[in-house]
Amino acid sequence: MPPRKKRTSSRGRPCPTCGRPVEDDRAANPFFPFCGERCRLADLDRWFTEEYAVPGVPDPRAPAARP
Ligand SMILES: [Zn+2]
Repeated sequence: MPPRKKRTSSRGRPCPTCGRPVEDDRAANPFFPFCGERCRLADLDRWFTEEYAVPGVPDPRAPAARP
């Protein structure tokens, strides 16, 4: 693993995919806001999957669709 730079202002934000803290610096992390390439690809894959599964129509199995 690469060494972490110490920052006093903040420790960054959590990775949208895995929730690990991500350094808020695009120069240090080219995959921002993800922690790494794997999480970025996982998120893209999820987006594409949802796009194919829900082409503009709400999923009837979605729990939020019904009261
Ligand atoms: Zn991650």
